[in-house]
Parts: sequence; structure tokens; C-alpha cells
Amino acid sequence: MKVSEQKQRLLKQLPGVDRLLLEAQKSHQDDTVPKAILLRAIRDTLAQQRERILDDSGNGNQDAVGLTELMAEIACQANQLLEFNLKRTINATGVVVHTNLGRSCLAPAAIDHVISVARHYSNLEFDLSSGRRGSRYSVVETVLCELTGAESALVVNNNAGAVLLCLDTLARQREVVLSRGEMVEIGGAFRIPDVMAKSGARLKEVGTTNRTHLRDYENAIGTDTGLLMKVHTSNYSIVGFTAAVSLEDLVALGNKFNLPVMEDLGSGNFIDLTGQGLQSEPTVQASVAAGVDVISFSGDKLLGGPQAGLIVGRKKIVDRIKSNPLTRALRVDKLTLAALEATLHLYRDTTQAIEKIPTLRMLTAQRTEIAQRANQIKQGLERIDHQRLKVELLNFSSRAGGGALPLLDLPSCCVGVSVTGLSANTVEKTMRQGQPAIVGRIENDQFIMDPRTIDESEIELIISAFDRLLTSTTDNSKGSAPN
Ligand SMILES: *Cc1c(COP(=O)(O)O)cnc(C)c1O
Repeated sequence: MKVSEQKQRLLKQLPGVDRLLLEAQKSHQDDTVPKAILLRAIRDTLAQQRERILDDSGNGNQDAVGLTELMAEIACQANQLLEFNLKRTINATGVVVHTNLGRSCLAPAAIDHVISVARHYSNLEFDLSSGRRGSRYSVVETVLCELTGAESALVVNNNAGAVLLCLDTLARQREVVLSRGEMVEIGGAFRIPDVMAKSGARLKEVGTTNRTHLRDYENAIGTDTGLLMKVHTSNYSIVGFTAAVSLEDLVALGNKFNLPVMEDLGSGNFIDLTGQGLQSEPTVQASVAAGVDVISFSGDKLLGGPQAGLIVGRKKIVDRIKSNPLTRALRVDKLTLAALEATLHLYRDTTQAIEKIPTLRMLTAQRTEIAQRANQIKQGLERIDHQRLKVELLNFSSRAGGGALPLLDLPSCCVGVSVTGLSANTVEKTMRQGQPAIVGRIENDQFIMDPRTIDESEIELIISAFDRLLTSTTDNSKGSAPN
């Protein structure tokens, strides 16, 4: 396709890289933007300009961009390149364990411990009492055993890794008996049958989607069987005409055939939250008490700690897992161990755990408390502008998220905002791309924020973000997003 003369002229008018670099260095004299960054910003800006010129399908009377405008764009690009990609984000979705937003926020005690261990040396693999080499795996073993009643414990990178490691240790080249009702897929491409295949274990499916009986497991046991497995159906629920085998019955069956029983609990949970108005979610202690040989669960779902895969169980079995070379590949790092240790210590007192661990505090927050925060946001917003901002309180519900309590609607009180002259999409996008980013959702043409997952200290940040949105769009009632 022939490029019009007009477009060719505009392309030729674009200054060269050298000229722009000189210009940028002149105006950035006291700045410390590295040259490589400046060059990238210049090249990106020029590429965008060329694209803009070539893409224009109008009547060919675009204007050439001025140098000042180009330099401003380059400065903006350079600043973006210097920013971190990982940004603080305000979770206004009401989904407490939001995997895309980093799952759990750490308790202050956990953060303090991380900072101390990050800043200084630690006895990570050094036994201070004997002066000899120690093991990083012993850092949280005692407290994990104390909290769960298990004989032994091990922590690896995440629960997917924990499941892989357990299967590889206990059932390599052997069959694992699992109910068809528990063939779980969680987000991010973790599917039980695939993990099983990777570990070298063979899946032996039994029962049906809705009903599996003890005799189904028993009939499947043969000379190749290595493990009986249960997976917590963490992100779905099978209701209606259903039957599943209890842990106790499966453990008895395992004992009869001298086979270990493993349970992937998904979200690790230590506290029975039914007293807090939540549905019952199995606890790790209950599985240990039922006699399950090895149990794996996540550190950053309901537990409210850092990303980690926790394995607890019988000493004989956990010892075998510890000596699997794969354990080294899934090794947990010291910052994780620090965060996990401090989080686990909080669980020694249930009331304290619920108060201090953000995930538990948000999950158990009562509607009245959330409504109070919603009101604070509403009043704050109306204070900056009650003409262009329309703010409503809505009785929507929040979600636990993170593949836990899938059927649970947590009663909440949300704030719905609409801005005269701006579409809900524009408001959502501006909030999402701001600093800090605010992630909410759109419903009925309104931007919705659920204060269940918004900290008290974040309310002012939200109000300032709307203030900036209004200021940057005051003269434009048709509305366009800033930047
Ligand atoms: C979440 C989950 C996993 C994976 O845990 P990660 O910590 O995300 O690796 C495995 N199994 C079940 C049942 C889960 O719910």
C-alpha cells in the first residue's frame, strides 16, 4: 500500500534519535535517568509516533507533533520505565483471598520478622545451640506440629509443589486412587490429574462425579496401588444426591491394606470459623486427628501467611519426603519462612489470630463494621464533590476467594460511584491505572468498591484518587481518562 505524500512528509519531520537524546540530556541535566532508559523511551515514543501517522485514516490533515510535545512524551515514557512493575494495589473487589492481587496481606508481626531477617544474617541453617549446621526445615516444624497435632512437618514453595513432592515420594510409578468427584482444577493451570502425571504417579479414578463409596476405593486397590488420596473440593461444591467417603473410613481402609492416605486440603485452615458466621471449612487438625498420613495445604489462602506449601503428617512418611531430592528444588526461602513463622505464632491464640491476621479479620468482619467504612468513603467523596459524584451504598456480598468457601456469600455494604460525564469504564480504568492502583468492578454502570477488603488507612487514598480524577477532567464534561 502506498503511503501518502502527506504521511511521508510527517514521518520525515520526526526528529532523529540523536537529536532527541541531546535534547533530553539537556533538559535532564540534574536528573539521573540512565542513558539506556532514555534511549528506550525515545525509540518507543518515535515508534508510537510513526504508527500514529501511518494508522491515521482521516483526511490526511494531521499536524506534525512539536518538539515540546515529543519531549514531554519521552519524559513520561522514561518515568514509566523507571517505575516498578509490581505496584501497591488497593483491593476493592471484596474478594478476600484474591490470587491475582497477591492472595494474603501479612500481619504486622510477620512483616516485622521478614524485615529483620531480610536486613540481617540469621540462623537459617545453623544450629545455635550446637554450633553446627542446621536445617531450614526445622524453623517452623515445632510450631506446625504443636498447632496441628502432627508428628512431623515440612514447608516447600507452594501447595502445588507440596502435592507434586508427596506424589513423587509416595506413588512414583504406582497408582493413586482418587474419587471422580475430587478431580479438581484450580486457577493458573493446576489440575490434579496433570500434577499426578508429572509426578510419575498413575491416576486410578473411582466412583462417579456425585457419588463415591468405600467399596469403590477398595475394589480399585491392587498390587500397583501406592496411595489413597483425597482432594478438598475447594472451589466448587457437589450438592444434591451425593456421597463421599469420610477421612476416617479411608484411613481404616488404608490401614487394612497397609497403604498411606494423603489429603490435599487446598486452603489450610486452623480455626473452625463456623462460630464467626462462616460455613465450616475442614481444619488441618481434624485431618490429622482422623489419622491421615500426610496432609498438604497452602500458606497464603485462608491461613493468611506467605506463599508456601505446608506438609504435615506421620514422621515415617514426612522423613521420606524430606529426603527426596525434589525437596531441594522446591526449597522455601528465608523471607517466606520468617513470614510463616510469625504468622503461625499468632495462631497460638485464636482470638489474636482472627484480630491480627488480615485475611481472617476481613473474612470475619461484620456487615455493620463494613457499612461504617462504606459510609466513611461515601462522606469523603461527597465532601470533595457532591455535584459530579453520585455515591450510593449497596447491599452486595463479598467472596472468600482463593478456592475456599465457594458457596459463601459474605453480606457486605458496597460503595457504588458514578461520575457525571464519565463512563463507568473510564472510572474503572483510571482507578486501576492510578497510583496506588484501585481495583474494583463495574455493575449497573457504576464503579463498585467493597470495603471488606479495604483497610481503614486506604480510605483517604481512594478519596484523593477521585479528587485527582475530577480535577483532571473538570473542563471536559464529555470525559476522557487522564493519560
Ligand atoms: C489452591 C490449591 C492448590 C494449589 O496451591 P498453591 O499454594 O496455589 O500452589 C492445590 N490443591 C488445591 C485443592 C487447592 O485448592
